[in-house]
Amino acid sequence: MKKEFWFIVGSQDLYGDEVLRTVAKRAQEMATELSKALPYPLIYKVTAMSNSQITDVIKEANYDDSCYGIITWCHTFSPSKMWINGFANLQKPYCHLATQYNLEIPNEEIDMDFMNLNQAAHGDREHGFIGTRMRMPRKVIAGYWKDPEVQKRIAKWMRVCIGVRVSRTMKVMRYGDNMREVAVTEGDKVEAQIKLGWQVNTWAVGDLVKEMAAVTEAEVDELFAEYKKNYDINTKDIAAIRYQAREEIAMKKMMDRNGCKAFANTFQDLYGMEQLPGLASQHLMAQGYGYGAEGDWKVSAMTAIIKAMGENGNGASAFMEDYTYHLVKGKECSLGAHMLEVCPSVAAGRPRIETHHLGIGMNEKDPARLVFEGKAGKAIVASLIDMGGRMRLIVQDIEAIKPIMEMPNLPVARVMWKGLPDLATGIECWIMAGGAHHTVLSYDVDAEMLADWARIMEIEFVHIGKDTTTEKFEKELFFNDIAWKLR
Ligand code: MN
Repeated sequence: MKKEFWFIVGSQDLYGDEVLRTVAKRAQEMATELSKALPYPLIYKVTAMSNSQITDVIKEANYDDSCYGIITWCHTFSPSKMWINGFANLQKPYCHLATQYNLEIPNEEIDMDFMNLNQAAHGDREHGFIGTRMRMPRKVIAGYWKDPEVQKRIAKWMRVCIGVRVSRTMKVMRYGDNMREVAVTEGDKVEAQIKLGWQVNTWAVGDLVKEMAAVTEAEVDELFAEYKKNYDINTKDIAAIRYQAREEIAMKKMMDRNGCKAFANTFQDLYGMEQLPGLASQHLMAQGYGYGAEGDWKVSAMTAIIKAMGENGNGASAFMEDYTYHLVKGKECSLGAHMLEVCPSVAAGRPRIETHHLGIGMNEKDPARLVFEGKAGKAIVASLIDMGGRMRLIVQDIEAIKPIMEMPNLPVARVMWKGLPDLATGIECWIMAGGAHHTVLSYDVDAEMLADWARIMEIEFVHIGKDTTTEKFEKELFFNDIAWKLR
């Protein structure tokens, strides 16, 4: 299905037809030019001058599934009471682009005609007031529309809107329940559906086993060939790899049949399965499916959403777990991994398929998994937790690094990083915020994008970055707690 954004220009009828014709022409030009720089097309819809025009275009935007969000701009004063009825019913993400057609104030040519065409400086303020008055969860982006930095920010906001849609249509397939006794992977699935749109339901592991039995050898051959194309095979146990292929095919069939884009399982419930899905889960994530281990449906859905927000609709993001620290002064860093399941989209090189013994769970056979090092670069880790009565999204900026040691005996994919502002402050803030051990690690979705996403979904957002101090952060959590209870 096509994905597009609508450009709605605010005006009024005081200035005569010629001004309006010029504005329409310019708006069309802006939409066309911007579309070349943006990941999704921006469609110029209307230069709106009345309450009914605005109400109509917003009704249309709500109804049209191809519209992922609207961008407004007021080239001139567009009296904002005209916007109230439309905005009161707006169901799509909304960005206010505070820009102007002209880059410069032309010294010689400037006259009142020029001023009538270029009044965004006060038009966008009147427009901004009503958004604030109506407490609209909107994004405001200011700057010249041809500035690549401005375009980059619009592009990022568009990707956020993709994440909003993926969230609102998210279905998570749970194979079995959460790992016994674990608190942070629990949560209110009804609240998650009301706020985030997620349909989180369970399917029997026995049904998966039946589905696996029905997978043909030819189907396994085909997927095995794809594994060979993408990964090096570093094991003699071909049967284990083929078993993972069988698991992957069966899970994919069940998810596709039910419209699920994410799944969770647990090593405590593998009845009738020889191996915990490792390679199978990793290769499903590589295709954009979300995954959460130990029944963690929240991180599973978030993995799918954040991947969809990334480059080309399936970015470099992975299910991750904080595993162990390097606490040597001056060289502090974290090592993230999981017992098997890290998405190869974050790999620095070509992953290799290996088989190793896995002590945890009910594995009769050594599960095949992808082993690789994560790439270096700026990234974030994100965790969604249920505070009881509301959801909180915690995001920390990190700098992923090339692992400072080889770790030849570590049989799993690993990513090493330096948490901001520093290891200890990062840990203290994360723990005070209640962040989980499971996260989504992303290289192409940043904290601003997740803040935008949280604002649209109307959930709490906190950010740990280079300027964070424990003192200020603790206060923020305290005030947030009060504020969210009042909402
Ligand atoms: Mn885990």
